[in-house]
Amino acid sequence: MPELPEVETVRRGLIPVMEGQVIATAHVNREGLRWPFPAGMAARLTGQRVIALRRRSKYILADLSSGETLLVHLGMSGRMLISGATLGVFHHDHPAPAKHDHVVFDMGSGARVTFNDARRFGAMDLMATDAAAAHPLLAALGPEPLGNSFDEEYLVARLKGRNTPIKSALLDQHVVAGLGNIYVCEVLFRAGIAPTRQAGQIAAARVRGLVPIIRQVLTEAIDAGGSSLRDYRQTDGELGYFQHRFHVYDRAGQPCAKPGCGGTVGRVVQAGRSSFYCAVCQR
Ligand SMILES: [Zn+2]
Repeated sequence: MPELPEVETVRRGLIPVMEGQVIATAHVNREGLRWPFPAGMAARLTGQRVIALRRRSKYILADLSSGETLLVHLGMSGRMLISGATLGVFHHDHPAPAKHDHVVFDMGSGARVTFNDARRFGAMDLMATDAAAAHPLLAALGPEPLGNSFDEEYLVARLKGRNTPIKSALLDQHVVAGLGNIYVCEVLFRAGIAPTRQAGQIAAARVRGLVPIIRQVLTEAIDAGGSSLRDYRQTDGELGYFQHRFHVYDRAGQPCAKPGCGGTVGRVVQAGRSSFYCAVCQR
């Protein structure tokens, strides 16, 4: 499932072919994905210039010249493929139409962006740009973890007195937007905090320390995505999924990566999701 760094990588990969460009024709090949598409979506997209491509949490937002904004969520398996565009030295011809190519944007430049989603948990919606922040999927989101309003004092205040495990608190999208299971595991490993520890009982100094670690873990992953973008262009034009080495995620039974720790990565299920951690150095 794409997390924030993957979504940011997709956004950055789409910028050269979409931002500032006109959607010559939008092809909408089914009624909807996770939810029905908005009425007349193809007609409302066709002919519009993409003024800006933004990201909020795990949503990509394309502001259009019509005054509407297209919201895109990749869901579990959504993929964006670019073809017909020369990016750097790489050029990908349009592939044959494939099963699960649900929405296709033919850009005025000749480039094509194909949204393929085998499991159909993705979503697209349209709303007025000036009302985008009030969209039901966006309205309740907490601050962006890489934004200015997410800082040490904010996090201390939000976690104070909270009787939930720190893992659940950081996954709560009201607390901070866009953090998912993989990166919360990595953040807690780097912070030396057990995922099961009650959020409200962690000393304020350690909570403050989480903020730069969250930023660092996400930034490193986004940088890795940037490198992968160049590699993917070399292969088939697909954006967003990249190899990234994790220290604890999905490494149960392997030695702890912290030098000198000697512990073993364990796994515990919290709220139906696996947490990976080292019981020796995460307290
Ligand atoms: Zn350890």
